[in-house]
Amino acid sequence: MRRTILHIDMNSYFASVEQMCNPFLRGKPIAVGGAPGTRTIVIAASREAKRYGVSLGMLHHEALACCPDLLFIEGDPAKYTDLTQTFIDICKRYTDRLEVYSVDELFLDLTSWIKSKEDALRIARYLKEDLRREVGDYLTCSVGIAPNRMLAKLGSDMQKPDGLVVIDDQAIPAILEWVEMVDMPGIGPRLKIRLGDLGIRTLKQLGGYPLASLQQLFGPVNGQRLSDIGRGIDHAPVPYVDDIAPTKSMGHTYTLSADTRSKDEIYGHLLRLAEKVGRRLRRDSYEGRRVWVYLRWDDFTGRHEAVTLPRYIDDGYEIYRCGRQIMDQWYLVKPVRLVGIGATMLKQSGKQLTVLPDEHKREGLVKAQDVINDRYGEQTIQRARTLNVRLRTKVGGFKTPHQFH
Ligand SMILES: [Mg+2]
Repeated sequence: MRRTILHIDMNSYFASVEQMCNPFLRGKPIAVGGAPGTRTIVIAASREAKRYGVSLGMLHHEALACCPDLLFIEGDPAKYTDLTQTFIDICKRYTDRLEVYSVDELFLDLTSWIKSKEDALRIARYLKEDLRREVGDYLTCSVGIAPNRMLAKLGSDMQKPDGLVVIDDQAIPAILEWVEMVDMPGIGPRLKIRLGDLGIRTLKQLGGYPLASLQQLFGPVNGQRLSDIGRGIDHAPVPYVDDIAPTKSMGHTYTLSADTRSKDEIYGHLLRLAEKVGRRLRRDSYEGRRVWVYLRWDDFTGRHEAVTLPRYIDDGYEIYRCGRQIMDQWYLVKPVRLVGIGATMLKQSGKQLTVLPDEHKREGLVKAQDVINDRYGEQTIQRARTLNVRLRTKVGGFKTPHQFH
């Protein structure tokens, strides 16, 4: 499905906040940094300072060399996070899918809230107006609207300050040709140099580079990711805000006996766990309309995502299919140590007779499987897919996704 993603980025955030709070600083070149007298670097520069060439990460004396009149201000993190919270609350009015990407950047998925490009533009203008009114009249933001996150971020980068850029399908080829490897997320300075050595300076050149060669040079996963970036492809979703505290959820997690990077192995576990979720739902007469999946990496960070379905389900295999659809889009960036899947948005199932013969047959099969497993123990009957999965004796119990974090 075509998506509409909005990226919003506050302009010269810390510096603008300081200027907003102290009118004396407005219109002047200022740099926000550490305590005065310490070996501090510039963590934010006002637009006036940027004009002199003052930039992020400069040492005190380097910045002064660019702009002798530069005023150094000690940063006040509590002030910024407080304003960021207001900023987040405003964005939540416009969508239920939102990701706080950094202290001054957010992604919003507007897909299910709009009908046209004009709607998206209207939301962007409302957002800007709300921010001006409620966060502060001296702050501005740049907004990018595009079919995915990567392009939306490119869009907000294009016009600063106070920008509003829409990248639609027709605009994409020209943008890929024109954009250099600026601060594309995932392309750091060293990678940029390596790509430059290959003669790759624009996204289009990256996208046009043979995938096999990129994979050979950077590994299968990173090679694919780079090729996607070069073609303006980004399937990464924006999570639902309510995923952090679902009202009711049934799920299972499993800690692997050894960390793995094999999707096949993970899918085996996912199916087995999903079947358990299905059995539990049916036993307690629940059906769910939202499926979540979770992977925990070896460094104990993790990735969680959910999908909402058009109807309620209680069949483990269907739950598995939804979970797998989500995970198919994921790169296994690190070895995986724990797998989880579950259903939320539950309701008690007052089951109606199924009209479709296929579904009817399937329900009969699922029911028979439950009867046998109830009688002879878990997994007496199981799908062939789960058979080659190595099991440990301890299986994680019932958890809601917010317990993972
Ligand atoms: Mg910013």
